[in-house]
Amino acid sequence: MSSVTISHRGEDRARSGHPWIYRSDVETADAAAGDLVQVRGSRGRPIGHALFSDESEITLRMIAYGPHPPGPSFIEDRLAAAIAFRTSLALDATAYRLVHGEADRLPSLIVDRYGEYLVVQALSQGTDRRLPEITAALAALVRPAGILARNDPRVRLLEGLEQKVEILHGEVPDRIEVREGAVSYDVDPWRGQKTGLFLDQRENREAALRYARGRLLDGFSYNGGFALALAPKCESVLAVDISEDAVARIRENATRNSFGHVEARAMNVFDELRELERTGAKFETIVLDPPAFAKNKASVRKALSGYKEINLRALKLLEPGGFLVTCSCSYNVSEDMFVEVVSAAAADAGVEVSLVEKRSQGRDHPILINVPETYYLKCLILRKLA
Ligand code: SAH
Repeated sequence: MSSVTISHRGEDRARSGHPWIYRSDVETADAAAGDLVQVRGSRGRPIGHALFSDESEITLRMIAYGPHPPGPSFIEDRLAAAIAFRTSLALDATAYRLVHGEADRLPSLIVDRYGEYLVVQALSQGTDRRLPEITAALAALVRPAGILARNDPRVRLLEGLEQKVEILHGEVPDRIEVREGAVSYDVDPWRGQKTGLFLDQRENREAALRYARGRLLDGFSYNGGFALALAPKCESVLAVDISEDAVARIRENATRNSFGHVEARAMNVFDELRELERTGAKFETIVLDPPAFAKNKASVRKALSGYKEINLRALKLLEPGGFLVTCSCSYNVSEDMFVEVVSAAAADAGVEVSLVEKRSQGRDHPILINVPETYYLKCLILRKLA
């Protein structure tokens, strides 16, 4: 079997439970792209087994700890465990995440379910090489009508893998109707963002529904996730997204659900917030769910000023007693940093705010406790007091 020896620092990292070992901690490697390798410490101590990448900065992704290799059916076993966990959650939705990479002990593998179809992403050499086995196991376990590989994320380039979208099993249409709670959506798994929907926000939409009322502003709406979930409790809904395609989807989804009071605008949220302030608009409920402003450590400062600006403007537009549901999906911005920036926004806006709920990604996207990077989504529900 292929083998890799790692430095003391790499051993410490593995011992802390973090499943990634970087190239700088690899001392010797006798392995090929995507191999399952035995990992040893510098004095020969067996650490465990891992998937090897010869291109990425993340050279090893741990699969098992201790001297024994994972059993021959480990992929199928882990897929079955991941699926059983999602079944046990009894989610009120037909679209949700079945496999969330490291948190399901299947590093860099994503599997999302959209009704009868599955969408898969293999984001490292080791996982990519095992796609035939993964596909066969998923077909046997879930019996889907089709499996699509959305292998177009840019991170595949870091692994020396090509970006491609292809059918792995059966057939997959370019429109799938799914339901989340009482709302149905049309999803395009071939071209939609991520694998089609922002599934990680489902439980935050449910939580926001507990507070939503009056006039709603949904900023960074994509295909209307929050706007449509909250529409039944609001008298008017303004959904804003910069993408014309997304706005067309919001309108279609609003019609599909017979929500006549949903207006969708293709606008930059930064500009729209300024314009709404100028015209004296007011809202009882505001949602802000921007894309990750901090894609890396270097952009954190700029990201924080972006978060501050939109939250400050939103707090000004909110009526006293109203709710702001504000999110960050930048893993480089910690929960503490996010709370701090929103506090600063409240202070600058001269408003008093209470923190009603601190939330994260949904339970189908669990955080691996030793991997801070997997705690990426923060969602604060705030109430404006005065
Ligand atoms: N709230 C959505 C997910 C939002 S994803 C849901 O629950 O499903 C972030 C969205 O922000 C994307 O649709 C993207 O098109 C949009 N976006 C990015 N920059 C923007 C900007 N400056 N103004 C408005 N929308 C923007």
